Amino acid sequence: MTEIAPPSRAAALARLDAFAPRMGRAYEAGRNHDPGPGARRDVSMLSPHVRHRLVTERDLVAAAISQHGPRAAEKFIQEVFWRSYWKGWLEMRPVVWDRFRAARDAALAAPPPGHEAALRGETGIACFDAWARELIETGWLHNHARMWFASIWIFTLRLPWALGADVFLRHLLDADAASNTLSWRWVAGMQTRGKHYVARAENIARFTGGRFDPRGQLEEDPAPLDDGPAPPAAALPPPDRVPEGSALLLLHEDDLHPESLDLGAARIVAVAGVATADRRSPVGVAPGARAFAEGAMEDALARAAAHFGVPARRVALEDIAAFAAAHGAARIVTPWAPVGWTADALAPLKPLRLRRDWDSLCWPRATKGFFAFREHIPALTEALVMRGAAAR
Ligand SMILES: Cc1cc2nc3c(=O)[nH]c(=O)nc-3n(C[C@H](O)[C@H](O)[C@H](O)COP(=O)(O)OP(=O)(O)OC[C@H]3O[C@@H](n4cnc5c(N)ncnc54)[C@H](O)[C@@H]3O)c2cc1C
Repeated sequence: MTEIAPPSRAAALARLDAFAPRMGRAYEAGRNHDPGPGARRDVSMLSPHVRHRLVTERDLVAAAISQHGPRAAEKFIQEVFWRSYWKGWLEMRPVVWDRFRAARDAALAAPPPGHEAALRGETGIACFDAWARELIETGWLHNHARMWFASIWIFTLRLPWALGADVFLRHLLDADAASNTLSWRWVAGMQTRGKHYVARAENIARFTGGRFDPRGQLEEDPAPLDDGPAPPAAALPPPDRVPEGSALLLLHEDDLHPESLDLGAARIVAVAGVATADRRSPVGVAPGARAFAEGAMEDALARAAAHFGVPARRVALEDIAAFAAAHGAARIVTPWAPVGWTADALAPLKPLRLRRDWDSLCWPRATKGFFAFREHIPALTEALVMRGAAAR
């Protein structure tokens, strides 16, 4: 897989088909190696599409199982469930998102020296500088490179972790409040308290096939960061019941596969798409990430218009209520926006929120660490993927 597929469901499904033969043992053996731009074959590079749900987690796991069966595809399936785990963990602890925003705002108000040079790829650490440029030019980094980048940012360059997380949110095409915030916390040693991820020169040389060797340049014995114990998990609010009658379907960047939503008794009279990518950071979003989100929305609106046979178009957030009234919609329904900037933006509209079975079954199990969550994966897969098409 050499580059990110265009922002459409059709392109995502074509990539899924092309990558499915590699979701088994080849994935397990190759997923940690980053041979660099243009040479990657062992990871799907589908995260921007999954993040917007142009393809769903269920699409990915179903493809892996049908090609390889659940055992040979175990590693790939687990990685998809990492996403569901992170989403559930943050959904039950929204205060961690609030804490990130506070730390980010404080760092943005007084950015430390060295931060601009790091972003320009001028630290003198060749691997870090290459990843900084790749992030800004392409909007994507390999998972292992993200781990090394975050670790070097925090422990070698001694820059604030929340500023690094903000840089990722502004530039990544797959920018996701849960996966990003919690992965940065994990690298720092705050997520699994006291256990940090330390980037080592030998590991970087090995897993980049010798492209980089930062021997002598990295802080390899740092102390973890600490921000105290994680808050306890709160119960998830239940999804809303949608009464019979006319409704406006409100689409947003967290869920762009309206065809597979369970809309209950609602009669959709129009579809509106709101753009929220500019809210990822107080200092804006990179043009490439905005363009990907906008392309994904256009694709979803075209599919929604065909599927529901109603008008579907982009509408500014402040005009949504008037748009709903103009189409005679008695209420606004929307796929659940998980904790993050889109949920923050939609909250004042008080839409009825639909939650997929996938999220309702996975999220409450994110009470402890991933290893406890992992025990549930076979049963979750059975219920959500193998037991027919009813699960969404
Ligand atoms: C510091 C840091 C920040 C990150 N920020 C984000 C982010 O903002 N958005 C994001 O989607 N992922 C994030 N990740 C997770 C991971 O790096 C990407 O999801 C992964 O690189 C995507 O590549 P892929 O599509 O080729 O994945 P594949 O290996 O092909 O995996 C298939 C899918 O599983 C999911 N997935 C795989 N690995 C992970 C993981 N470790 N965590 C969560 N989901 C995973 C993704 O949806 C991915 O598309 C971050 C990781 C780190 C270490």
